[in-house]
Amino acid sequence: MKLIRDASEIIAKTLGEQAVGQDEAVRLASWCVAVPAGDGGVLLLNNFTKELILIDDGDGLSGLHDLKETDSELFCYLSRHWFTVPVALDDKNLVDEVRSVVSCMNKPEGIVGYTILTTTDCNARCFYCYEQGLERVNMSRQTALDTAEFIKKTAGKKIKLHWFGGEPLFNSSVIDIITDELKKSGIEYHSTMTSNGYLVTDSVVKRAVESWNLKGVQITLDGTEEIYNRRKAYINPKGSAFQRVLDNIEKLLQAGISVSVRMNLDMDNADDLHKLCDLLADRFSSYEKFGAYAHYIFDGKTADSLYYTLDETYIELEKLRSYLREKGLARRGKLGNTIKTSHCMADKDSSVVISETGKLYKCQHITPTTESFGTIYTGVENPDIIENWRKRPEDGEICENCPLYADCVRLSSCPDDFAFCPQVIYDEKLEKLKSTMLYTYEEYLKTEHS
Ligand code: SF4
Ligand code: SF4
Repeated sequence: MKLIRDASEIIAKTLGEQAVGQDEAVRLASWCVAVPAGDGGVLLLNNFTKELILIDDGDGLSGLHDLKETDSELFCYLSRHWFTVPVALDDKNLVDEVRSVVSCMNKPEGIVGYTILTTTDCNARCFYCYEQGLERVNMSRQTALDTAEFIKKTAGKKIKLHWFGGEPLFNSSVIDIITDELKKSGIEYHSTMTSNGYLVTDSVVKRAVESWNLKGVQITLDGTEEIYNRRKAYINPKGSAFQRVLDNIEKLLQAGISVSVRMNLDMDNADDLHKLCDLLADRFSSYEKFGAYAHYIFDGKTADSLYYTLDETYIELEKLRSYLREKGLARRGKLGNTIKTSHCMADKDSSVVISETGKLYKCQHITPTTESFGTIYTGVENPDIIENWRKRPEDGEICENCPLYADCVRLSSCPDDFAFCPQVIYDEKLEKLKSTMLYTYEEYLKTEHS
């Protein structure tokens, strides 16, 4: 047996070593995932502690009691390191207990994540935009100054700002104001942005590097030139918006800023997105900081209401994701370092969304009916809204014995997620985890041979 990756320190400490009961009936824990690797071997991940090992002969795992006789050293190791557990253990309950301990230990002081809507206005008119119906308003100079004051009062150490909209670059002067104020106060920050990329100019790139500490931008491309231009329907475009956005992506990459292209897929643009992959690979694959990923479009109300059925969408999505991998555009994920304790910004005390008028929200997905929980001037006014974002849906039958349970925190109110996995999504998540296991193993082999 070889240790490929150590267990997470915090989880190993919280759990301690499991005592080996000599006569107790044991089974493989539900959080274990096995993948064939090496010469007849098996990579075995403990997706609770995050420990990854390589077993020379995986056959023993199917008959653990024989393993006790044939390789008692391995049998004891698996038990001490929580790969095997007593038959009667409630796995999910143990994960939940550890999750709540780790969540208390890892709580940062103050707010460390601020998502800021510089405007609700935008120069594009995407048909699927969930903000349709919101009044188009720019953040004013005064609100920007007040936002900076709010951040100074509430910030923890090393904060992350995320510029959002509308189109955040439609009102980029407020980014200058906020970052200038934070700089003057000696607050350490870096930022990221969700943008359509159309308004990136040399001046924007200069300010992004020198003042905004901009590390990454997510830009959506829904197709090649003709389809993209039709779908984005920019107001008053000058020339081809598509060509302009590609040039702007290059400007960002040349300045050392990461670009992640999001491809919104539905059944009308699925084929064209494959052509887009070819085009992006030709132009950007030499940039280390370039990547692309695919997601389905939903109608913005609930993830259950896709424009097409989930199964048909997922067939196309999987084809596209595998093409992205083949073209070297998909960033290969690494195994997480510890158990997941929150879903996203919405259920974290350390994150907040600030609107263009200074209202506070938990989720960045703001529609005309979303209620704020307070303002930058008054602080929290409605704590029930915050509590409501912490509500979890009931587990589904598919969640019993799910090896992904330690990585799974769901929110009842997230509009971009399902209550629990439909089968296609479960299969996809499991495949993704297996691919990260193999990637971690490949990286291990590289360091072993270097
Ligand atoms: S929601 Fe999905 S990932 Fe989470 S526990 Fe259930 S089946 Fe597993
Ligand atoms: S849409 Fe869902 S994942 Fe995104 S911020 Fe809101 S709650 Fe979180």
